[in-house]
Amino acid sequence: MPRPTHRSRSWRRIYLRTPGGRTTVHYERRKVNPPRCAICKQPLNMPRMDRKAAREGFRTPGRPYAGCVCPKCLRDAIKRAVRIISGVLA
Ligand SMILES: [Zn+2]
Repeated sequence: MPRPTHRSRSWRRIYLRTPGGRTTVHYERRKVNPPRCAICKQPLNMPRMDRKAAREGFRTPGRPYAGCVCPKCLRDAIKRAVRIISGVLA
């Protein structure tokens, strides 16, 4: 029976064959995908927010859409929004 903490599916199970022929299970934390821009899908210039990054005290920037949209797409989106509001593109 696995340890109670290892019963959760947040642990990846690795089935290993020992030299004696038995199969053992090793448990490993799943890897988190790197954060990507919601518009252009490019990886963002920030660490993947796993337990290690949280422990090291990383925080996303305070600006709107930080951690969701890359600065280039955000700049374009703000320009578009301003132009729509001011009636240039309406
Ligand atoms: Zn982008």
